[in-house]
Amino acid sequence: MELEPDVPGRDSQWVDTGRAVATTIRRTYPDTTPWSRDQLLEIFGKLRPTGYLGSTIPEEANGAGLTLVQFASLTEGIASAVPFLSNHSVQRFITAAGSPQAKRRVLPGLLEGTSIGAVAVTEPRGGSSIKNPATTVSPGRGGLVLTGRKDWVTHAMTADTAVVLAADEQGRSVRVLVDLAAPGVERRPLRTHGLRHLTFGSIEFHEVEVERWRMLAEDGAAGAKAGFGVARVLVAVQAVALAYEALAGTTRHLTTRTARGSRVADLDLTTHRVGGIAAELLGARLLAYHAATAVQTGHPSAAALASGAKAHACTTAVRACTELLSMCAGHGLDTGTGVAAFRDDAEMLATADGTGLVNSVLWGAHVKDHLAGSR
Ligand SMILES: Cc1cc2nc3c(=O)[nH]c(=O)nc-3n(C[C@H](O)[C@H](O)[C@H](O)COP(=O)(O)OP(=O)(O)OC[C@H]3O[C@@H](n4cnc5c(N)ncnc54)[C@H](O)[C@@H]3O)c2cc1C
Repeated sequence: MELEPDVPGRDSQWVDTGRAVATTIRRTYPDTTPWSRDQLLEIFGKLRPTGYLGSTIPEEANGAGLTLVQFASLTEGIASAVPFLSNHSVQRFITAAGSPQAKRRVLPGLLEGTSIGAVAVTEPRGGSSIKNPATTVSPGRGGLVLTGRKDWVTHAMTADTAVVLAADEQGRSVRVLVDLAAPGVERRPLRTHGLRHLTFGSIEFHEVEVERWRMLAEDGAAGAKAGFGVARVLVAVQAVALAYEALAGTTRHLTTRTARGSRVADLDLTTHRVGGIAAELLGARLLAYHAATAVQTGHPSAAALASGAKAHACTTAVRACTELLSMCAGHGLDTGTGVAAFRDDAEMLATADGTGLVNSVLWGAHVKDHLAGSR
C-alpha cells in the first residue's frame, strides 16, 4: 500500500525493487519451517543484484554504494514480503575494521551470497547490556582461543561466519570473526514466536581456535554500538512495512464481509480504525526515515533518534497488527491466512536490536538532556 506523497528520504523505486524480489521469494519458498542454508543461499543469490548484500559499502570496496536511506528503502520493500532477512551487517563490519586477510578470505563470499554472516552479542545473563561480556578471547596455540556462549543469534543454524563480541585477557571489548564450522562450535536452535522463516539459536564456543587475523581492529563495544544505529533504523522501516501489509490485507478482507446489510469495509467504524492506523504508521515511517537520514549524515543526535524511531515503529506496528488481527476476527485466527504472523513478526522485531524499553530510554534520556539545556 502506498500513501502519497512519499515521506522525505524514502525512495519508492528502491522499495518497489525490494518488494518485487521478495514477493517472488515468498511464493517460491514455504515459510512454515525455517529455510535451510541451501534455500537461503538461493534467496541471497536472487537478492545480490539489488545491492542488498553490499548495502552501503562503497563500490570501490566491492559494495553496492547505496546511501543508507536507499538501503533502508530496499530493506523495507523486502520486509513487506520477507521480514528481517539480515545477513548484510557482517560485510560492513569487515569493511570498516577487518584485516586484509578477512577482506580477502571472508568478505567476498558474504558479498556474493555464497556464505551467510551472523552477529553474536547477546549472552545468557541478558542482552540489554553489552558491557563486560562473559565470552572471552585469550592467546593460545599460536592464535586466539574463544570461550563462551551467545544467545538469540539470527541465522544461528545456517550461518558460516559470526562476528562475536568478547573480552580479551585485559578485559577490553573486542570482536572476532569466527568460522562456525570450526571444532568446538556448538549450535542449538530456538523455537520462536515469529519470523518462522529464519533460524535463531544459541552458539556455544568451547575453546575454539581463532586465527589472529580474524580480530577486528576496533573497540568491540564501540563497533557494536556503531552498528546499532543502522540496525535500528532498518528494523524500524521493516516493522512499519509489515504492519502496512497487515493493514492492506485486513482492508481487503473486510470488503468481503457483511454486517447489518453493509460491507464491513464500508462501515464508519472500519473507516475510522483504518484511517487511525494508517496515520500512526505514516508517522512511524516518517520518524524512521528521519532517523535514517540523521544516521546517514552523521548527525550528533543520530544514535538517539535511531533508538527512538525503532522503539516507536515497533510499538506502533505491534499495536496496529494486534488491532488488525481482532478486526479480522475468525479470519485472523486462522494461521493459514498469515494475519497473526504479522503481529508475531512485529513482536519479534520489537525485541531485536534492543527492547522497546531500552531504546525508548536511550531516546528519552537524549530528549530530557536536550530540554534541560545540558547539551
Ligand atoms: C528477532 C530477534 C533477533 C535477534 N537477533 C540477535 C542477533 O542476531 N544477535 C544477538 O546477539 N542478539 C540478537 N537478539 C537478541 C536481542 O538483542 C535481545 O533479545 C535484546 O537485546 C534483549 O535482551 P534479552 O532478551 O536478553 O533481555 P534482557 O536483557 O534479559 O531484558 C529483560 C527485561 O529487562 C528490561 N530492561 C533492560 N534494561 C532495563 C532498565 N534499565 N530498566 C528496566 N528494565 C530494563 C528489558 O526491557 C526486558 O524487558 C535478537 C532478538 C530477537 C527477538
